Amino acid sequence: MRLRFAPSPTGNLHIGTLRAALFNWLFAKANKGTFVLRIEDTDLERSDAQYETNIYDGLEWLGLTIDEGPNEGGDYGSYRQSERIKAGVYDDMAKKLLDSGYAYYCFLTPEDIEKEKESAIKKGIPYVHSRRSSEMTDTDIQAALAEGKPYAIRFKMMDDRVITFMDLVRGEIRFDCSLLSDFVLMKSDGTPSYNFAVVVDDAAMAITHVIRGEDHISNMPRQLALYEALSLPAPQFGHLPMILGPDKSKLSKRHGATAITDYRDRGFLSEAFMNYLALLGWSPDGEQELLSCDDLIKQFSLDRVHKSGAVFDVQKLTWMNGQYLRKLSVEALYSLVMRYVSADFSQLMQGYDLKKQHLAVAAIQDNLDVLSDVRNYLDVFFESDSAYLDLVKDQVFSADQCLVLKTFLELLEQSAADSMDDYNALLDVVCKKLDLGKGKVFKPIRLALTGRGSGPNIGALLAFFEDEVISKRLNDCY
Ligand code: GLU
Repeated sequence: MRLRFAPSPTGNLHIGTLRAALFNWLFAKANKGTFVLRIEDTDLERSDAQYETNIYDGLEWLGLTIDEGPNEGGDYGSYRQSERIKAGVYDDMAKKLLDSGYAYYCFLTPEDIEKEKESAIKKGIPYVHSRRSSEMTDTDIQAALAEGKPYAIRFKMMDDRVITFMDLVRGEIRFDCSLLSDFVLMKSDGTPSYNFAVVVDDAAMAITHVIRGEDHISNMPRQLALYEALSLPAPQFGHLPMILGPDKSKLSKRHGATAITDYRDRGFLSEAFMNYLALLGWSPDGEQELLSCDDLIKQFSLDRVHKSGAVFDVQKLTWMNGQYLRKLSVEALYSLVMRYVSADFSQLMQGYDLKKQHLAVAAIQDNLDVLSDVRNYLDVFFESDSAYLDLVKDQVFSADQCLVLKTFLELLEQSAADSMDDYNALLDVVCKKLDLGKGKVFKPIRLALTGRGSGPNIGALLAFFEDEVISKRLNDCY
């Protein structure tokens, strides 16, 4: 099996495009097939090398290994359509279609076509291209070409046909071709149209399965007609449901659909992202939602791809990322965290021994959902004294709260508490001694120690700070 991902490098890689890449990749892996990257840069104006780099970055981050592609090479190259244009690949195929009568030179100008459209509107009938140029004699064609008249090469659409195919996701789909215009194969600037280039290349690259968004279903009659005219075997096709925002409208930037590399930079784990992306329009056979890459490869099949739109929900993605973060070892989480804090903050952290740094990271593990948030959670451990004093200066402690602080400090002095558990046990003693609930005891201690009303486990905080720091901070509050 040969699968391909064929993005146009006219913008950064985003959710919808990457989801298509993932489904092709999973299907290739599940079937021990080949995953090909083809860069569809026929739009020379809008294509940009920076976007190709961004596509590569996104694929690499997610771990979608490429078997054949522009940088990887392979037996079916070149894998960039701009290079294939230069090699004359599309000119040759267009010539074949001209010779066999399936295509013709069209000398109509954009203004001519506009007039045809206006006239159709006036008559209240749907516009279909008039095919006028196809009636020109050979002599007229040669004369027009010699004159240097701009032309496109158009495909003579089989307008008396119903074209049918079996979509791997949606079952049988039929198209009545009578209302389909003759479409452009080669534009007047000598570049191929999408429909032409995609067919020529999928055939040349021996692609067996095409998985892509359902916005391409409408292109199917044109592409299938081309396979037929070129006597080339068509691959099998599966069209994926649209990705929608939580309000069920088409996904846009407003829903958080930014470049994939932004998610990487915000501290999403690629494993979590892949897991979430796989569930956008596909579900496994069972209830389990957290699936590793290996699980996905084992379980992926096109018959479980949904037909209705898939909702992209950043909150769910964030939740899932949190689940993956919780599963990491402290060491692994620590090394990730260090990539997401600033150089200054990292220096502040390095002022503490590694055991303390790990303790702080472990204490926030259950709260953290994305790594870019980490600074907010770690501040409480590593902030400077002046930042702490700023927070605590307006806190007022009641007589009862002062008694809690005092009692705790007395017990602390006599204890050899060292670990989080030791400190939690010590707090239990305070509760018993004063006959108070946990809330009444924890709150003033947390406030006095951190200047905040909430935060990580209080036992972890107490284990983190030196006893002298604890004594000083609590003492100063009553
Ligand atoms: N370059 C096309 C796109 O990005 C490819 C579509 C296809 O997979 O056929 O939409």
